[in-house]
Amino acid sequence: MWGLVEHFMNALFPPLCRVCRCGLTPPFDASRVCDACLRKIRLLQPPYCPTCGRPVATDALSPRLKTCEGCPPTKIYFDMARAWLEYGGVTADLIKLLKFRYKKDILPMLVDFLLRAYEDQYKEISFDLIMPVPLHWMRLRYREFNQSELLATALGGTVGVDVELEALCRIRRTPPQAQQSRDKRYSNVRGAFDVVVPEAVHGKSILMVDDVYTTGTTVNECARVLKLAGASRVYILTIARAL
Ligand SMILES: [Zn+2]
Ligand SMILES: [Zn+2]
Repeated sequence: MWGLVEHFMNALFPPLCRVCRCGLTPPFDASRVCDACLRKIRLLQPPYCPTCGRPVATDALSPRLKTCEGCPPTKIYFDMARAWLEYGGVTADLIKLLKFRYKKDILPMLVDFLLRAYEDQYKEISFDLIMPVPLHWMRLRYREFNQSELLATALGGTVGVDVELEALCRIRRTPPQAQQSRDKRYSNVRGAFDVVVPEAVHGKSILMVDDVYTTGTTVNECARVLKLAGASRVYILTIARAL
């Protein structure tokens, strides 16, 4: 019965693409993004910087080259960072739909991007834990959910790796990183995280999941405190990466 009602409603009021607001023609899935928008999503192209995953020119790659200008400007504590998409355009719109407009039905599509990067780049690595980048509890109360946590939990369930949500905490509120200059971002985030259950991460190989890698300073600070607490390895996986 509901299927029939839905069918008639869709015929009377065709659903609009979430990104460009064009009318969708069936069949479309729950994410409700049109084919034209999907085609605008840009995949990152190898070769990548071995450390931060930024696409680099082939001739810039040498056995000695371990970092690039997209790497954090300070000491790097994570072992490797990888993403699947170039941040901007439709990709930015999709991530913002989840992050700021609470459109949770966009989540499966975003998890699928994470999964593709995981299978492409991290298939050979064994992880003990998957962890999200934590939000401060005050921002969590305001935002209602942590998008990194949703992504980490969904990915962990799909690939069969335990998800740890309690061990790492954000102990200090920081202004949103997007509003900060590159140098400011580093001082902004220093000391913002703490490992409150060190035994949960000690000796563990950890995959940290977030939505976007921008300068890498936030995930690098997470990696710093995780390593200080005895984590053996810390890898980073994001849906998208700023270029
Ligand atoms: Zn569209
Ligand atoms: Zn790099």
